[in-house]
Amino acid sequence: MLVLVANLGSTSFKYRLFRMDESGGEVVAKGGYERVTDHAVVIEDALGTLQRDGIIASPDEIDAVGFKTVLGKDLSGCVIADQKTIDALDGFTAVAPAHNPPYAAGIRQFEKALPNARLVALFETAFYQWTPPAFHSYAIPQAWRDIGIRRYGFHGASHKFIAERSAELCGRDDVAEIARRLYLDGPQVVSGKPFRVISCHLGGSSSVTGIRDGVAIGSSMGFSPQSGLPQNNRVGDLDSAAIPFAMRTLGISLDEAERQLTKESGLLGLSGVSNDARDIRTAAAEGNTAAQLAIDANVHSIRHWIGAFLVDLGGLDALVFTAGIGENGVETRAAVCKDLEAFGIHLDSSKNAACRATEAVISTDDSPVKIIVIPANEELVLAREVYRKLS
Ligand code: AMP
Repeated sequence: MLVLVANLGSTSFKYRLFRMDESGGEVVAKGGYERVTDHAVVIEDALGTLQRDGIIASPDEIDAVGFKTVLGKDLSGCVIADQKTIDALDGFTAVAPAHNPPYAAGIRQFEKALPNARLVALFETAFYQWTPPAFHSYAIPQAWRDIGIRRYGFHGASHKFIAERSAELCGRDDVAEIARRLYLDGPQVVSGKPFRVISCHLGGSSSVTGIRDGVAIGSSMGFSPQSGLPQNNRVGDLDSAAIPFAMRTLGISLDEAERQLTKESGLLGLSGVSNDARDIRTAAAEGNTAAQLAIDANVHSIRHWIGAFLVDLGGLDALVFTAGIGENGVETRAAVCKDLEAFGIHLDSSKNAACRATEAVISTDDSPVKIIVIPANEELVLAREVYRKLS
């Protein structure tokens, strides 16, 4: 099955074409465009390039297109992308203004460009469909809840892959199979010991997710991807009272407050240096105390959420790090795991130091909790879910 994974930004279009079968998948082509003003034009151009390069004889050979949609109003999961999906994206444009409009438009454009292909949307919220109401309910008036304000959770594609892969690496093939088939069959009862994972997706955008028996029980992200850990330049968790206070005291408008919280906050806001973890590390090593504070606040927040899920899960079998900082950030991993031996979390410092961007177990051999680094590959995860949905 040929699956095109379409990554649509407000002014960008990137794609990867996968050949998928029962044993897995491989990338057969990839490409991208920046400074896009008309997505329909670059989609046509990409399909033309695939033909000219001899990758496909005709666009009809593409069986499916996968979209990593973020947040839909009253819709989640891994679904056939149709008018209902477009309506759901349109319904939450105000919450995900950079992501929902290009995907809604992109689905329409692919309907035209590839009329014979199946279109599939995998919502970033999909993995959290089965979280308990106690997790996803904010303590707000009913009228606010009625318009869809609740915790959703994000990075679902990445964390679901961690659910599958961590179970495989820990010899829990029963749970790995449940996690693989989750969007087809829903959660399943596991006989025997539960399998409990905390997955730390630490990148430009970061979240921590608790997973029991292949199913998410909660996320550090809530109503929008602005929440939870400090993000690269987005605020993360903030007391709601701070916004009206800042607006009144600084004399700024709601739009300006929103801009500052989404563009000038997070690690950039705290460090005053950069939104990139590497630059912040370098500045901290040179004695920049604001950069060190950004690092410390980030680690503090990661540990806060690990603590929350440790209790929710009633113990832990695997602590997983993924995405740019999770895969490469030796110092961050060490700081996150510091002094957690009482909870069975024993980091092997030399294995940690040796692990960069590869899959590896970095806990000591006798650590009750396995600490694992698993590289993220969200495009492949998407192609797999599309293949599973359509097979
Ligand atoms: P991602 O969003 O997954 O691409 O991750 C981006 C983040 O990972 C950025 O903050 C990078 O600074 C960080 N990152 C990438 N490589 C490294 C590295 N070698 N050491 C520390 N952080 C890294």
